Amino acid sequence: MERTLVLLKPDASHRRLVGELIGRFERKGLTVVGLKQVLASKELAEKHYEAHAARPFYPSLISFLTSGPTVALVLEGREAVAAVRGLMGATDGIKSPPGTIRGDYAISIQNNLVHGSDSVDNAKVEIALWFKAEELTAWQTTDTAWVAG
Ligand code: UDP
Ligand code: MG
Repeated sequence: MERTLVLLKPDASHRRLVGELIGRFERKGLTVVGLKQVLASKELAEKHYEAHAARPFYPSLISFLTSGPTVALVLEGREAVAAVRGLMGATDGIKSPPGTIRGDYAISIQNNLVHGSDSVDNAKVEIALWFKAEELTAWQTTDTAWVAG
């Protein structure tokens, strides 16, 4: 079953939306196999967003990701990468349709509440960056046959 990394960025914690956002992923049918609160170091934030290092918004993005707790999750399910990206919506909260997380809760481009891996390969790299192998739980929900059938 596919796994993906989700980060609830510090604006989610500051705005007390952590429970609400985790609930959306759960209700979709994704399974939580990793979950922790992290005060990201500058090094971790820079590594996570290293693909954007040359972009003008990078310094501000690093300040943002280190400005409070991040809730990191590993979610599992059928096409988990695509499922999460669909729930997230577009990067810019204004361009993101209502019904998506960013469309419903974000008006900013930077402070857009969630990160989700954009490919299975990147998910593997990002999961290894945020979690140790022993922090992940291999398990199946009792409703798996109903959700994934
Ligand atoms: N970002 C930003 N300004 C921009 C584009 C992106 O601050 O013009 C931030 C935003 O928080 C976004 C993150 O950089 O989520 C990573 O950008 P990416 O293009 O990968 O967007 P995502 O995959 O998160 O939709
Ligand atoms: Mg991205």
